Amino acid sequence: MVSICLLGGAGEIGGNKILLHEKEWAILLDFGLSLKKRREYEIGYGFERTNRILKNYLLVGILPKINGIYREDLMLDEGLISSERAFSIDCCIVSHGHLDHYGAVTFLKMETPIAVSKSMKALIEHAIETSGRSGIDREIFIYKDRKKEELRKKTGKEEVEEVERPLIIFEEDKKIRGAPIEILPIPVDHSIPATFGFRIETSKASIAYTSDIRFHGIVSTYTQDFVENVKGIDVLLVEGTRINDSTTKSEDDVKKEVVSETLKKKEKLITVLVSSLDIDRIRTLIEAAEECDRIPVLSPRIYHLIKTLHEVESKVKLPKLENAKIYFEKRSIIDEGYFLGSPHYRGWVKKIYESLSGTDKLIKSEEISKDQDEFFLIFNSHQCLFELAEIQPIPGSLFIESTSEPHDEEQEIEWEKVERWINLLRLDTRRIHASGHANREDLLKLVKEIGPKIVIPIHTENPREFKRLLEKEDIKVEIMYEGEEVNIGQ
Ligand SMILES: [Zn+2]
Repeated sequence: MVSICLLGGAGEIGGNKILLHEKEWAILLDFGLSLKKRREYEIGYGFERTNRILKNYLLVGILPKINGIYREDLMLDEGLISSERAFSIDCCIVSHGHLDHYGAVTFLKMETPIAVSKSMKALIEHAIETSGRSGIDREIFIYKDRKKEELRKKTGKEEVEEVERPLIIFEEDKKIRGAPIEILPIPVDHSIPATFGFRIETSKASIAYTSDIRFHGIVSTYTQDFVENVKGIDVLLVEGTRINDSTTKSEDDVKKEVVSETLKKKEKLITVLVSSLDIDRIRTLIEAAEECDRIPVLSPRIYHLIKTLHEVESKVKLPKLENAKIYFEKRSIIDEGYFLGSPHYRGWVKKIYESLSGTDKLIKSEEISKDQDEFFLIFNSHQCLFELAEIQPIPGSLFIESTSEPHDEEQEIEWEKVERWINLLRLDTRRIHASGHANREDLLKLVKEIGPKIVIPIHTENPREFKRLLEKEDIKVEIMYEGEEVNIGQ
């Protein structure tokens, strides 16, 4: 008998945490952070203070109350943990580099091996290095024992070193080495590269997990191959972010619309906001800029991502940067704002600027300001509005939002403030975006083509919609509540 338990992602978008176990083994598929729950309970920074972060996360239900899986250096309130439900996790397999799928890995025991692909690891490391994440939030691949750290301080001994967590690097279509059962990672199309679905063979049943999936992106053939690979499976864990949404817009539509809107603004500046992890969208935008005879200008963070993936020789298709320039942010108080020795340039930004200095790749706000009709800015954060304030866009310049869904976002956006800035700078706005998730019709088609015996919806606020739509077709849908177990093959 194999048991499936959703420790997160049941009736909610994000926070996916799937526990699979038989007598001899237990694995986690994803161990994501529920950004929604965190937002609901956080009050300032006190909520996440090191000595109570684990306690608070257990108390409010951001983390499941399971014994034996958590790191031991953080203060743990035994009363919050179920003593009957104890597991020793053989490994935690991550499906892709979105926080709602891997963000809670940092709370797992130091000994638990983490399984990722090479490109996925590079993407997660890029996100950790270039975002404002600090402390425990950074400890996905490394680990620093906080209890030891304080004990050492007390006794005046040397600092505690960071140690690496045990790592399993998996490759597409090859069984995951070191896993207690046969698990095949199969690439799927999503709004971040290196996303994998899985086919899992247990002694009693075969199980497939879609992860986050779509059919309308640049690499939709991956998703089709996944469907072929898991046909006739016993249990299908399927994401349902957009089970209530029938709209369709493809990556190709995004490109056409961006080109057409850009051409309407001949004399003006174009700025597009994108998720810095959505490499396919970045490629689309660079191509759109070139089609409109404009020079694409990338934020340093976007450039950092492309460079990082290039350095690890990732198989991900990267955008061509021959014509692109990198935006040179002002951070210092002297030298017109461009003194790289200033402490206000973060390490990774400084490294990028130093590596490009003396080339014609860097471009300053003053240069963009002079010839606004020549450029197409691709930025990754709403803070780019401060850069636009430097550039002073001609009134009526275009600001395109082309970002991922909010649950994929790392930072909470305060829309009212963004709107105030947009009004202040007298920008025209458009939202041109294709979702990272399949719509209702594509999801239903996927399930029918796979033909599983049981469907378990995950990563959706509307699991009942699957039941309503699929049970007419004689496909059994199991609605699972958080923490509840379903036993297969008894
Ligand atoms: Zn995702």
